[in-house]
Amino acid sequence: MIPFLDLNQVNAPYLEAIEKASLRVVRSGWYILGNELKAFERSFADYCGVAHGVGVANGLDAITLILKAMDFPADSEVIVPANTYIASVLPVSYLHLKPVFVEPDPRTMLLDPSRIEEKITSHTKAIITVDLYGRSCEMDQIRNLADRYNLKVITDAAQSHGALFQGKKAGSLAHATAFSFYPTKNLGAFGDAGAVTTADPELAEKVKYLRNYGSVIRYQNDYQGVNSRLDEIQAAILSVKLPYLDTENNRRRALARRYLAELQVDELILPPADRVDEDAWHLFVVRHPRRAEFVAYLDKNGIQTNIHYPQPIHKQKAYAEFNSLSLPITELIHEQVVSLPLNPVLTDEEVSYIIRTVNQFDSQA
Ligand SMILES: *Cc1c(COP(=O)(O)O)cnc(C)c1O
Repeated sequence: MIPFLDLNQVNAPYLEAIEKASLRVVRSGWYILGNELKAFERSFADYCGVAHGVGVANGLDAITLILKAMDFPADSEVIVPANTYIASVLPVSYLHLKPVFVEPDPRTMLLDPSRIEEKITSHTKAIITVDLYGRSCEMDQIRNLADRYNLKVITDAAQSHGALFQGKKAGSLAHATAFSFYPTKNLGAFGDAGAVTTADPELAEKVKYLRNYGSVIRYQNDYQGVNSRLDEIQAAILSVKLPYLDTENNRRRALARRYLAELQVDELILPPADRVDEDAWHLFVVRHPRRAEFVAYLDKNGIQTNIHYPQPIHKQKAYAEFNSLSLPITELIHEQVVSLPLNPVLTDEEVSYIIRTVNQFDSQA
């Protein structure tokens, strides 16, 4: 069986260094908000090409704390992509803001810049862009539009560490960007972890306070904050792995290039091939109108796949108020998408086998 993702294998090359770094923290006697976090925040911000990085507990909190720091009035509207993971949208609801769903470009499956303007009202305050599957959104068009309407742009880059847009890294392209270091992400910790990056010093400072009970100095609380800190062990582990992120992303790009060049089956829709070297290829997402049959065929042939994602947010029970919305592009995508294995430890032979097997789908299924 070719597993979709084997974290043991992904982390194996770094294990010795990670064990050493973890032990250093264990023996240091300092576990929260210390030098390991400071060092990782500095190096991650530098990596992204942005002034400030603030470690938080996870990707969901990163988005929540950005929105909380921006302090929009209750009932303000926030533009969100209809095709994304639910974590991109939940923070909008937590803060009593209103998510306004925008359909994706069917080609990229990302927020369609040409469909945003018609959804902007006098209550709109921000646009959340999500670099879903690892590809950066069309940030030039989105930033221009946001500037014209005086809106903030927040990017959910939980899947796009190291992705580029016009030569600039994810994390430097929006007013503020949220990252997750969940173990399966392109840069993954050994537990939960996240970060906010921004060029805005005041926003960075406010997120720093908010993640630690709103505390400006010890026992002086200027905001009603939360407990959302990135601990020293996770920070130390992330510092070990960060220097290898570009190498790993380049391996992902090489594998994606092979898939794009060699996969060829009737009715199979491949992801866009126009920005292969800018995309971070967190996932390689194809579409097939007979998905169930396609997935069963791959499974029978020893290839594990995944579906990102099976049910749109507006159809979830948790969002009953939107269940009657019709978002046909998003709904069709959720019926057809399937993610093939793509990760830095996938071998050339495994990729050849996957390509050969996929290409025989119609004759063998
Ligand atoms: C993983 C993910 C998140 C949430 O990150 P957590 O660290 O699990 O909170 C948010 N958005 C997207 C697109 C993700 O893939």
